[in-house]
Amino acid sequence: MTLSTKLYDEASRLFPGGVNSPVRAWRNVQGRPLFIMRASGATVVDVDGRSYRDFVGSWGAAITGHAHPAVVSAVHRAASNGLGYGAPTLSEITLARMIVEAMPSIERIRMVNSGTEATMSAIRVARAYTGRPKILKFAGCYHGHSDGLLARAGSGTLTFGMPDSAGVPEAIASHTLVATYNSDEAAAYLHAYGNEIAAVIVEPIAANMGVVPPRDGFLQGLRETTRAAGTLLIFDEVISGFRVGRGGAQAMLGVQPDLTCLGKIIGGGLPVGAFGGRADVMDLLAPLGPVYQAGTLSGNPVTMAAGTATLSLLDERAYNRLDKMGAWLASALADAILRAGIPGCVQRVGSMFTIFFGIDAPASLAAVQRADHEAFRRFFFGMLDRGFYLPPSPFEASFLSLAHSDEDLEAFVAAVRDTLRIMQ
Ligand SMILES: *Cc1c(COP(=O)(O)O)cnc(C)c1O
Repeated sequence: MTLSTKLYDEASRLFPGGVNSPVRAWRNVQGRPLFIMRASGATVVDVDGRSYRDFVGSWGAAITGHAHPAVVSAVHRAASNGLGYGAPTLSEITLARMIVEAMPSIERIRMVNSGTEATMSAIRVARAYTGRPKILKFAGCYHGHSDGLLARAGSGTLTFGMPDSAGVPEAIASHTLVATYNSDEAAAYLHAYGNEIAAVIVEPIAANMGVVPPRDGFLQGLRETTRAAGTLLIFDEVISGFRVGRGGAQAMLGVQPDLTCLGKIIGGGLPVGAFGGRADVMDLLAPLGPVYQAGTLSGNPVTMAAGTATLSLLDERAYNRLDKMGAWLASALADAILRAGIPGCVQRVGSMFTIFFGIDAPASLAAVQRADHEAFRRFFFGMLDRGFYLPPSPFEASFLSLAHSDEDLEAFVAAVRDTLRIMQ
């Protein structure tokens, strides 16, 4: 019996399902989670002392690699000045400036403590701005766990086959319309109910049903139809922001949303979120306007320092490196899958990718859901045995970091070849 197994038993008495966030429980691969003791660079070490090359990267937040010395020392420095004061600090301005410079659509921003808070608050302010009750989201896009956004969400809800959550009143769910990603359905909804829809929220590059890139024209179409309907367009860039490039998906794809939600990377690994956008919308927030939104620990100086140190490392060279690694890896993986004769495909944007088994080029949730779970499960454990730590679900993205070396990627591909051979 491993120490991880023992700890999981103990954790299961304390936490529902033994975890504090569902995907961590490894239910989708019918396993028991590893308990992690420490991490450095591209390596995580479990409590039994085994090392793994990490392709989860704290679900994308660890883009510089774990415990990057510059980030850790920024955290130390900030912490030694006190962990928070519940008052304004310079550190908030420093991080906000970096974000606003990278994303010109953000004129005004507010820091929060999670991506969930960011999307929930962005929707509240959009409803206030438009005076409309409904929102429209896309099946398979995950926007955190607030009530109205749990309709056909991705990530953990997909993993557990719970398209909707219990405990969400119908009155709230009924204000959420759900359209198919990469389809024209949203335009049809906007045409029919446009004057009731406050906002369309979308992951501009979907990454919570595995990586599903937007097809050409999808986001441009949303931009045009929302504008025509007087509906706000919200990009949830909690994953894609500072991941696919400094300006996020909006810069990469050339579409400007009205509001943007951020999280993950901008906290440098600490809990964080932010939402921002047009000044005329954001200025409805308290204390200026009538939309209440607050946070005791929001803009926490230690988090701000970690985020600032992280974004400081993400220059053009860093993104070139990440993109080059991603491109090389995706093509090597596609080649390995083809040679193994196992049906499947690789989808990638920048330094995030998903290997789908049993399906080819999925563009929507319905397509993703036809993936071969059992093949993924065998793949996951095959890779784990070979020392590679992957997201424990076929519906998640894997992430590269600046700490991955060419040798890490070559070893990864060799392990994939090996694993696929055994799966044949
Ligand atoms: C992770 C994520 C969220 C939720 O962020 P939390 O910090 O987990 O609340 C929201 N939207 C997207 C796109 C995400 O990937």
